[in-house]
Formats: sequence, structure tokens, C-alpha cells
Amino acid sequence: MAETSVFEQTLTLDLGALQPELRVLIVDDDPEARDYLVAVVQEAGYQTATAASGEEALQLLEREFCPIMITDRNMPGMDGVTLCKRAREGSYPGYLYIFLLTAQNAAADIVSGLKAGADDYLGKKNISAPELVARLGNARRIVGLEQALRRALDQKRQMANTDVLTGAYSRRYLERQLSLELERTRRFGHPMSLLLVDIDFFKRINDRYGHAVGDEVLRGAYRRMRELLPRSCDWIGRYGGEEFLVVLIDTDLRGAEIVAQRLVAGLAETEIGTSSDPIPVTISIGAAEAGQMLSHELSFKGLLEIADQCLYASKRDGRNRYTMTLHGDSPLTADAISAGSAGDGRDTQGEVRQ
Ligand code: GH3
Ligand code: MG
Ligand code: MG
Repeated sequence: MAETSVFEQTLTLDLGALQPELRVLIVDDDPEARDYLVAVVQEAGYQTATAASGEEALQLLEREFCPIMITDRNMPGMDGVTLCKRAREGSYPGYLYIFLLTAQNAAADIVSGLKAGADDYLGKKNISAPELVARLGNARRIVGLEQALRRALDQKRQMANTDVLTGAYSRRYLERQLSLELERTRRFGHPMSLLLVDIDFFKRINDRYGHAVGDEVLRGAYRRMRELLPRSCDWIGRYGGEEFLVVLIDTDLRGAEIVAQRLVAGLAETEIGTSSDPIPVTISIGAAEAGQMLSHELSFKGLLEIADQCLYASKRDGRNRYTMTLHGDSPLTADAISAGSAGDGRDTQGEVRQ
């Protein structure tokens, strides 16, 4: 999606649906002035929160963020200008729109307030309720725009991280997250395993039932695998057409074997319901573990080569099974694997019988 269309979407879709219950924080040491502002702001349909000092306002913003703040300028302790500066240094979940109330309407005061981070100022003596409400409407528009943009960007990020067909993580996301995880593994030596999962004879399903039903099977197979991976720290992503990659954090090859066995058995156990017939599906799995590679050579590509070799062995030996490389051997480099020396005597295979 092009950047402009995110903006267009934002402007056309979300601005109409601004949060109706926007909360305005009113900061004034004078209770009477505070009560007056609360009455006007509430009358205009906003919720309010109040603070009697700058310190109290900062604490409140940390605790329960309000997107709009109206603050008096002259207060004992922290004055309004300092409050603006401090609030701009804070990290909040959204933009904070600040009004500075000032008794002195002198240009220099207004400039210093705006420079300190205020978005607008209000003359304390001569501010009328309709003007305050109109200016709050502006604030609401800016805050709404910022919130809508944030949502659109989150959505866009989410879309890039997710495979559209199945809802699994996308390959791009997996590769990015995995390189971070490998860095952790390299530094702290935590185990980490990969399972490369491929649906068996998937082409036949497409050929017999058509591509749309094939898609339903892919979605169903993903859902089933997700159910069979209850640990929230295990990820599953769609790696290619009918290939999925499972990443098992803090899991050595023995742990990964338990998961592989559960996945192979779990898929073979029940047919996948589709808009056509329920379709029996089996999977083949190849595994790899970070400890199989020398730490300084550890890479996503290298691990995937190991997993791919194992997957190939599972296919070759009849499908509906997993192949693990035994833990505890001398480390294998990606080159050794490519040269085909991974097999002999090192693989364990699991076939799950019904
Ligand atoms: P094997 O057991 O050796 O893995 O056999 P296979 O038929 O599963 O493997 P092959 O690689 O020959 O075929 C994979 C098929 O997956 C071919 C391709 O059209 C299909 N495919 C890839 N992506 C999608 C998709 O998004 N939707 C559907 N419906 N099919 C897809
Ligand atoms: Mg394949
Ligand atoms: Mg396949």
C-alpha cells in the first residue's frame, strides 16, 4: 500500500469516528478557576481530570494519559511553562495537545509558552466559553488525526508481519525476528530449534479440489498447528507455498522432537474440514538446532539448510514423519551439511503410526 493511501484512508475513514469520550486534563492551583474550566469542558461533551500542580499533572499523565491538557501558567512550584517542557520530554501512548492559560497576554509570554511546547494559548481573563469550546474542537481534530495515523501505521505494520492467506507470521517477519533471536542465542548460548514443515502431496489436493479448497486446507492446517503449539513464545510462520516454519525458543532438539511428533500426529489424526469434503492431510518435518552450528557461523540460512536436509529425508523415507539430527554431536557447519555429511548415523527419524 502506498504511503499516500494510508493518509487518504486516515482522512476519509477514521476522522469521522473520533473517540467521543476524549479526556481533558485541567491543571490550575486555583480551585475556582479549575471548577469553571471543568464545567465548560464537560458541557462541551468531554471527560475531565484535574490536577492542582504541575507535579500532580505529570504523575497523572504517566498513570492515565489524557490527550488534551489545559494548564495555568502561573502556579506555585512547577509553573505551566516548565510543565509544558517536562510533558514534552515524557513518552506517552499518543500525542499530548497542550493549552497554556495565561493572565499575561503579552506577545513575549505567548512566544515563550509556545516555545516550551504548548500548542495553543488561552487568555485567562477574557476567554469565553464558546471560544474555548471551538479551540478544543481544533485540539480534538489534531489528536484524532494523530490517533488515526497511529492506527493506520499499526495496521500496516501488522499487515507486513502477517501472511494474508493464513494469518501466520510472514516470511519477512520470521526472518527479522529470527535474526534477533539468533543474536541472543549466540550471546547467551540458549538453545533454539527450527522445524520446517511441508504438507505432503499438496499438489494433488489442488489438482483434485481446486486452488480455493487448497487455500482452505492451508488455513486449516495452520490453525491445527497453532493449536498444537500452546506455548505463546513458539512462533509459526508461512515460509513458502505449503511450507511453514516453527521456531521453538529455549528448546533443544529433544524438546523439538516432542513438538515435531505432536504436530505430525495431530495433523494426521483428523481430516481438515473444507467447503468441499473433509480432506486428510499429513505433514513432513525437518528439524535444526542452533547448537548444531559453530556459534560464529550460526545463521538463519545455515539452520534452514540443516532443516531442509532433514525434511528431504522425511520425504524420501515415506512422508508423514519427522527427521531430527541428534543432539550432542560435534558442531556441524553449513558447509558440511551441504556436502551431504549430515546423514550417516546422526539422524533420528520419527514416524507416527495411527
Ligand atoms: P511433497 O509431498 O513432495 O511436498 O509434494 P507436494 O505436492 O506437496 O509438493 P510440490 O512442491 O510438488 O507442490 C506444492 C504445491 O503447493 C504446488 C503449488 O501449486 C501449491 N501451492 C503453493 N502455494 C499455494 C497457495 O497459496 N494456495 C494453494 N492452493 N496452493 C499453493
Ligand atoms: Mg513444498
Ligand atoms: Mg509439499
